Amino acid sequence: MDKSIHNFFYPDSICIAGASSKELSIGYEVLNSIKLFNYTGKVLPVNPRADSILGYKCFHSIKEILVKIDLAIVLVPKRFTVDTIDELIEKGVKSIILITAGFKETGEVGEELENEIIAKIKSANVRMVGPNCMGVINTATSVSLNATFISEMPGQGKIAYLSQSGALGAMILNSLRETDLKFAHFISVGNKADMNENDFLQFWQEDDNVHVLTYYLESFDNGIEFIKPFLLNKTPKPVIVLKAGNTESGMRAASSHTGALSSEDRVVDSLLKQAGVVRVTDVKGLFNSAMGFENYPIPKGNKIGIVTNAGGPSILLTDKLDKEGLKLAELSEETKAKLREIVHPEGSVNNPVDLLPHGNEESYPAVIKILLADDNVDSVVSLFVEPGVVKPMSVALAINKIESEKPIFSVIMPKPEFWEEYRKMPEPRKPLFRNPEEPAGVIANMLFHSSVKEYRKKGEQEITNLFSSQNQNLFSNLAGFIKQTEIAKICDHYNFPLGEEKLIPANEIDSAKIKFYPIVVKGISKDVVHKSEFDAVKLNIKNSDELKHATMEISKSFERHGYEVEEFLIQEFINTKHEVLLGGYRDESFGPVIMFGTGGKYVEVMNDTAIRSAFITREEVGEMISSTSMGQILAGVRGEASINMDEMIAIIQNASKMIIENEGIVEFDFNPIIVDNKNKLHAVDIRIKFG
Ligand code: ADP
Ligand code: MG
Repeated sequence: MDKSIHNFFYPDSICIAGASSKELSIGYEVLNSIKLFNYTGKVLPVNPRADSILGYKCFHSIKEILVKIDLAIVLVPKRFTVDTIDELIEKGVKSIILITAGFKETGEVGEELENEIIAKIKSANVRMVGPNCMGVINTATSVSLNATFISEMPGQGKIAYLSQSGALGAMILNSLRETDLKFAHFISVGNKADMNENDFLQFWQEDDNVHVLTYYLESFDNGIEFIKPFLLNKTPKPVIVLKAGNTESGMRAASSHTGALSSEDRVVDSLLKQAGVVRVTDVKGLFNSAMGFENYPIPKGNKIGIVTNAGGPSILLTDKLDKEGLKLAELSEETKAKLREIVHPEGSVNNPVDLLPHGNEESYPAVIKILLADDNVDSVVSLFVEPGVVKPMSVALAINKIESEKPIFSVIMPKPEFWEEYRKMPEPRKPLFRNPEEPAGVIANMLFHSSVKEYRKKGEQEITNLFSSQNQNLFSNLAGFIKQTEIAKICDHYNFPLGEEKLIPANEIDSAKIKFYPIVVKGISKDVVHKSEFDAVKLNIKNSDELKHATMEISKSFERHGYEVEEFLIQEFINTKHEVLLGGYRDESFGPVIMFGTGGKYVEVMNDTAIRSAFITREEVGEMISSTSMGQILAGVRGEASINMDEMIAIIQNASKMIIENEGIVEFDFNPIIVDNKNKLHAVDIRIKFG
């Protein structure tokens, strides 16, 4: 393992460059947290004017320190940062956290300074976190380090949390005493000038103290490097991402339909899902799911048993289960018979089991155990609203005591004083949920993780092959939108269903002999991307007179817009049943992606497309097709015959290969691939753009 990454969490000595004796300054508060939580290593504060701070001997310069420094925390004023980094490099320090702000986030001048620092640390082989960040926490007893300016220490847990925003870090630390959250590691990465989410992904996958990884991100610095280990089945631990900031368009100035339909957020959402990263939409979801993975076994299936003491909350939960693809378990007759002995005749022995307001510390655990014993139940959710006639604490504790291989999610809705009292209870104190709907999202995310893990394992070889086939560049030396003749060569190589067609120079069209009718004629010019917009596609031409008329019209239309027809493309006229879109482009962050869905002139309006990383297995291509309405139609509805799905899958796989193997391709659009009335496929409009 890379020692410089390891040292961010497990340093034997820490230098605090810019330690201060002024209370409420960051240089003081960081040192104070280190002291308060009894960091086990050597503490080496540096301040030119102080001899000791908070009881620690203080060094006047970095040079004065004679022992080895595993980790340096830099919080000197911005104007001193470059000199400080120089001194640390000279001292041989390999891991630095630059807390100081005022760099790239403030504009050009700050960005230059940040670049200067990055150049220095890169050439010295040093790893740096920040700038503009808030530090690091490791709760392991052997380290016990809180090197942040928030003097709150989380309990020892198994969650690692990386935050791109310092405030989102501080907010969580500030709320610790009010929540049941515990952490193994926390790190705030700020501007991510050197180290980013990718660096810690592998580290945490291998660190035994960490069982679940959580991220708050505003950007992916190198999305393909983030998802690659997932696609290659190298990430056994669950990873949950809260990704904010979804306004930017992924591919500005895209000329393809595919590019235009790929907002940054769509790409992030689709590719994270494909990779098996759990994506959540809010902070609560992030940590609820993390606590789910941390505290409960993953349920075997999606059937839920509910016990409640009131109707309302269980209805809300049932609605949410449905939205998340979960089901109310059908209880067996045997289970119901056993329940009848406990449940009041006015309550319910059907799922959700209703104990009415007198449900207490005896009946709740008894019912839960009966539900757990039923093979039809994969997990149990217990809902308890404080009814006035039963105290919540004894119920909560009695439920916590149940040992089971199936998870029990306990929701308690008490008066506020309950929580203070609960926090004083001895460990282990299981997490309790506060709203009836909350467990549904947690269970769904746990099931998602385990199902993806399974198909990632199955697809490992296929994906590995795709990664190793990258950049063979069989079609190099091409630039811009490539010509119809080059397209034909590529179609031949990748087996794309290009129909019979003929390219005729504009000045030869009148003398051209066409052997097949009916035909389609299209005006081609390097300046025209979407031909229909210039009235340059004429369909169902039946004879030479019609052809003459059509080509004249196309020429006139081009002239009106200041263009010239270079060539006419003649194709057979296809009896169209469906129009399909297949496209792809190279995303700046996530690399080659592909898209499939309803095609034709109205693709943007129809908006029926699915997007995936081009590193995709055959099975996932099938799933991608059937996730669109067009895919379902092609499979045959109302007794219609399905198209040859194997053929469609092969075309999509070949298109993926094409963009993976040829790094010069920036985007491509097959729009449409026509499905004719005999279910044959014809790619009638192919555009491929090289960079
Ligand atoms: P563009 O997308 O540049 O406007 P296309 O070549 O895709 O031009 O043609 C526009 C539309 O014309 C297609 O969406 C399809 O409906 C129809 N079309 C194109 N080529 C054929 C063909 N060979 N047979 C039948 N219809 C066609
Ligand atoms: Mg088209």
